[in-house]
Amino acid sequence: MSYRAEYIWIDGASPTAKLRSKTKILAEGAEPSVWGFDGSSTNQAEGHASDRVLEPVFSCPDPIRGGDNVLVLCEVVNTNGTAHVSNTRAELVPVAERFAAQAPIFGIEQEYTFFDGARPLGFPESGFPAPQGGYYCGVGAEEIFGREIVEKHLDRCLAAGLGISGINAEVMPGQWEFQVGPLAPLDVADQLWVARWLLYRTAEEFGVSVTLDPKPVKGDWNGAGAHTNFSTKAMREGYDAIITACDSLGEGSKPLDHVKNYGAGIDDRLTGLHETAPWDAYSYGVSDRGASVRIPWQVEQDGKGYIEDRRPNANVDPYVVTRLIVDTCCAALEKAGQV
Ligand code: ADP
Ligand code: MN
Ligand code: MN
Ligand code: MN
Repeated sequence: MSYRAEYIWIDGASPTAKLRSKTKILAEGAEPSVWGFDGSSTNQAEGHASDRVLEPVFSCPDPIRGGDNVLVLCEVVNTNGTAHVSNTRAELVPVAERFAAQAPIFGIEQEYTFFDGARPLGFPESGFPAPQGGYYCGVGAEEIFGREIVEKHLDRCLAAGLGISGINAEVMPGQWEFQVGPLAPLDVADQLWVARWLLYRTAEEFGVSVTLDPKPVKGDWNGAGAHTNFSTKAMREGYDAIITACDSLGEGSKPLDHVKNYGAGIDDRLTGLHETAPWDAYSYGVSDRGASVRIPWQVEQDGKGYIEDRRPNANVDPYVVTRLIVDTCCAALEKAGQV
């Protein structure tokens, strides 16, 4: 029997790319292969030369359609075989390869906000809900909005075989988080994109939209981030490597090089309030949720483990944040002989 392959790709929308997908019917036994699309409709081509190519990079069972159906994440390539400018995965590949011997792994905490029309899910029709305080990891109908969507999304990520490692309700009503990883750079980024697609697709069934807007409600409400947890083999074995990695992220132009690529609108979120550090001042510290980079208390106690870069926005491109962190930290660790 034939089966359905949902081809998913990342478009050329600016400043933040969006996900697109379309369905291909494949004959029994046929593998999902290269396909094409109209790049002039996705900000990836001009109308007079509109063809762009979809190259499969990751596939998994389709937990929505079930059966033999699959999801196929693709990268976007030009007709001459070169990577399209929007294809940030292609830039991660050589960096991940160069430092593969250090065995870098990432766990990314994806925060997001449900919207019901123009308001976050759970916000009253006019005015504001009770101030922040009880919503984070809360329980009960006055504090929790959208749990049925969140549970369905979790079930589907697990059925697809994605490396999802947890979920929790966040600080603002209608705001949630899921974590993917720890996984190698390309794996965590591919699987996070697929998990994002499953989230939009699942919420769609409930008539609810999802935003990765880093500051969906202005004022005294937490923003949405994508804390990026990172370690190499040396960091998992000793504390000197942890410190080298933290220091490397603060050297010279590195803080700004990173922050300006950590998602559009980062200065609205990294204000120094709401558990953030100001975007223009790098710092790190043990247990410090007001620092740019946090060393978890357990890591200090054990003298080994991982670090958490708290700066990336919810709308960060995981191919970009993993490339920058591997490039900066692994080069410094190599220089220090901590590999
Ligand atoms: P927080 O306390 O900041 O909310 P979470 O539990 O939400 O932390 O997320 C921590 C993330 O760190 C998880 O995705 C987890 O898989 C990841 N993680 C755990 N150990 C490591 C490690 N050694 N290297 C990289 N990531 C790790
Ligand atoms: Mn978390
Ligand atoms: Mn969180
Ligand atoms: Mn965190």
